[in-house]
Amino acid sequence: MNVSGRIALVTGGSRGIGRAIVCSLAAAGAKVAFVYQSNREAAEQLAAEQNALGHEVWAIQADVSQRAEVDSVVEQVLAKWNKIDILVNNAGIIRDSLLLAMSPEDWQKVIDTNLTSVFSFCQAVLRPMMSARYGRIVNMSSVSADFSNPGQANYAASKAGIEGFSRCMATEYAKRGITVNCVAPGFIETDMTTAVVNAAGDKIKSKIPVKRLGQPSDIANAVLFLASEESGYITGQVLKVDGGLTLGGTG
Ligand code: NAP
Repeated sequence: MNVSGRIALVTGGSRGIGRAIVCSLAAAGAKVAFVYQSNREAAEQLAAEQNALGHEVWAIQADVSQRAEVDSVVEQVLAKWNKIDILVNNAGIIRDSLLLAMSPEDWQKVIDTNLTSVFSFCQAVLRPMMSARYGRIVNMSSVSADFSNPGQANYAASKAGIEGFSRCMATEYAKRGITVNCVAPGFIETDMTTAVVNAAGDKIKSKIPVKRLGQPSDIANAVLFLASEESGYITGQVLKVDGGLTLGGTG
């Protein structure tokens, strides 16, 4: 997959899926800036490890739910590297509870972090991508966008919103050389899923046709493809990476 010499911006890169995406883009030759929120130690360690390998990887602290901070991140990357070819909107959170108990704050926090951040980053990178007549945008959805999980009304709404947003943006900017796609992971072993995996890991595995939980690298491989030059005829799509979880078979 060709991303050599490309400039990539990845949100939520300090841990989990985002960390794997940073490593795979850097290993494939891209220069990578990544955003983290609070885990400075993990972020700086990742940047140092990658720099020691000869990769150009840069950690930037910001809250993706704050528009001014998003604009500042994009300005910093443009000031350093002059362009942004690849944007991966990966940062995301869960605040699960049944609807009756869901606070307006937990609704808003998930929408702002997961969905509004995608709007903000996509809008902020659009002019430089349009000028370059090139862009690869990959937005992190979830099988929860169209697979019912009780307690995830806020999260499901944010991820379904990302998919609708991505299709619309893909149509608007295809003629400018910009593709916009989503990756929808199933159950991936990260901090986000530790509690549920500890409580019901074997039960979950039994429902996944490939009979294992996903690893962050499974998602990073799909993102690398959609971020590469070779994926240029694919836009507005959602690629499920879930081991067959949502196929509905009896497995
Ligand atoms: P994770 O391990 O909890 O990591 C979340 C990442 O997002 C961290 O780097 C975190 O930064 C960053 N982040 C969270 N809020 C932020 C904010 N306001 N501003 C900036 N950065 C913020 O999550 P994950 O499991 O890797 O999930 C990554 C993405 O995949 C999410 O969009 C998630 O919805 C999606 N997904 C995950 C699964 C799964 O099974 N794990 C399944 C479907 C979809 P800090 O380290 O600084 O806190």
